[in-house]
Amino acid sequence: MKISMVSEHASPLAAPGSVDAGGQNVHVAALSRALARRGHTVTVCTRRDDPSLPRRVRLDDGVEVVHIDAGPAEHVAKDDLLPFMGELAAGLAEEWRDDRPDVVHSHFWMSGLAALDGVAALRGAAAPPPVLHTFHALGVVKRRHQGAADTSPPEREWLEPRVGREVDMVVATCSDEAFELRALGVPSRRISIAPCGVDLDLFRPQGSVEERRARHRVLSVGRLVPRKGVDLVVRAIARLRAEGIDDVELVVVGSDGAAGAADPEAARLRALAADLGVADRVVFRGQVSRDDMPALLRSSDVVVCAPWYEPFGIVPLEAMACGAPVIAASVGGLIDTVVDGVTGLHVPPRDADAIAAALRRLLPDRDLLRAFGTAGRGRVEARYSWDRVAAQTERIYASTLSRARRAGGRLEGAAL
Ligand code: UDP
Repeated sequence: MKISMVSEHASPLAAPGSVDAGGQNVHVAALSRALARRGHTVTVCTRRDDPSLPRRVRLDDGVEVVHIDAGPAEHVAKDDLLPFMGELAAGLAEEWRDDRPDVVHSHFWMSGLAALDGVAALRGAAAPPPVLHTFHALGVVKRRHQGAADTSPPEREWLEPRVGREVDMVVATCSDEAFELRALGVPSRRISIAPCGVDLDLFRPQGSVEERRARHRVLSVGRLVPRKGVDLVVRAIARLRAEGIDDVELVVVGSDGAAGAADPEAARLRALAADLGVADRVVFRGQVSRDDMPALLRSSDVVVCAPWYEPFGIVPLEAMACGAPVIAASVGGLIDTVVDGVTGLHVPPRDADAIAAALRRLLPDRDLLRAFGTAGRGRVEARYSWDRVAAQTERIYASTLSRARRAGGRLEGAAL
């Protein structure tokens, strides 16, 4: 198949770990590569955010990134990109007119809008390609948890469900998302599930291990934004210290994109650690490259993922792939990926006491840590390799395409 991915803000060429570059960048890059390994040809269309970028960049065998002009050729925060989606749609139509894909797979709600409009502009010629869509995050969930702090444009409230209703197939990444989509009015027959995956060769239990400075190492990895709940982990470390469990270091990886001390969430967390008397126990590492991540994960007794909500969450998969147990808030994709009492422990969201209790149980028990780590690696090998996820996604493409072909183009009911 000729597959055209659309990922308006998340280029596979960007380094993950800053404010607008995270799981989506990793997902689009890895899925595209894995589909190409299965013999497909993949282009990833993304917005040009730097004037020096060539129109086409080869990412790997069979995968090209195509930079499309839409708005200024500079970084624009993703929440400010909506006005440029018309231009992106026109650019997509131009790209697809010359080289028509068999399927279009858009990522994030604004890409869905541009993809639908781009495909609509192709009408009149041969049957237009079906549009499949992965949301990566849902505005309705974000608004529920972030309230007024949500900086999404107000139009997201009605445009995002429209994308869900109008695309030929929504590819959700977890069962929790499928429930949310049903509530938004997307019929179940147009929801499929294919999870995110993990690179099992890069993230593995064997290999170099970073040295640590304390008996126990607890790790938090993710973009430094409040909803990732890193403050809860800092609070949990302070509780342990108050109980005399002191030989613990918390390593915090990630950045909010601002440089150094200007990073406001890092500043807030540093101040919190100082207030709680654990500044000497919390190490802020900033952004860490993908190549350095496995050694860091392997050096940890446990990885804590404590978000308020999480559309999927790739970090727990990376941790499990390296044989690290995970303490996970039981939200979103973490409900599917981390098995309570088998690969780690679930805790209620926004509950520092529960994180402290889980750490208290796990840290002294080396056998349990080892058993959880081994089970975690087994689980990701069985379910979450990118090759397996690509095969699942390919089946969804093929069945959507054959239904669309029988219907003479895009699916009936997926009206533009
Ligand atoms: N990441 C990274 N360096 C960092 C912080 C994060 O490479 O400094 C990666 C992390 O390993 C994972 C991704 O960014 O692959 C984050 O994905 P996740 O789905 O957990 O969270 P998101 O950022 O999408 O909310």
